[in-house]
Amino acid sequence: MNKKIKIVLATQNKDKIREIKKILGEKFEIVKLKKFPKIIEDGKTLEENAIKKAKAIFRITGITTLADDSGLEVKALGGRPGVYSARFAGKNCTYLDNNKKLLKLLKNVPYKKRKAKFRTVVAIIFPDGRIKTTEGSVSGYITTEPKGSNGFGYDPIFYYPKLKKTFAQLTTAQKNRISHRAIAFKKAKKMLIKS
Ligand code: IMP
Repeated sequence: MNKKIKIVLATQNKDKIREIKKILGEKFEIVKLKKFPKIIEDGKTLEENAIKKAKAIFRITGITTLADDSGLEVKALGGRPGVYSARFAGKNCTYLDNNKKLLKLLKNVPYKKRKAKFRTVVAIIFPDGRIKTTEGSVSGYITTEPKGSNGFGYDPIFYYPKLKKTFAQLTTAQKNRISHRAIAFKKAKKMLIKS
């Protein structure tokens, strides 16, 4: 039997871990950290944050580390909220606060100008210290009102034209087949297998 590739994920989010496990599949053994360090995500880009998170964990483990950072980029807002997606409406804000703020900012903006994309950057640090990044994105439009109750974050206001649904109207399995995160992690998987 082939030996599994040992990796550490720089996240404590259980939903994300489950999703990433599914994408990576059988070839990988995900090592759990006993104690997770506090990492301040103060990078100016998704790349900076992903690398910062990966470095913090790699320093402790020395094992191949994967970290991701994602955000929503709205064309009419010059790419905002981007790296600030989680706290768009302020410190300690909820997903609902963020969605409300975005819809307000886009009030009276016509459908064609409501283009947006979710983007994920995955940083990988290999045992020899090499750092690589992969990226995934998915394009859509911001709706004028929330629809659907699955998912999280901006999913209820992100319309995916190919399936004619918001991300919150997709099943988890459907979303995981097409999402920015899935694309970025599939690329990371190829890189890990090749290395
Ligand atoms: P994270 O880097 O994956 O924690 O994502 C940062 C923020 O981007 C989240 O708090 C959400 O607001 C937003 N976001 C990232 N991925 C998604 C997604 O798949 N659906 C909806 N919102 C997302």
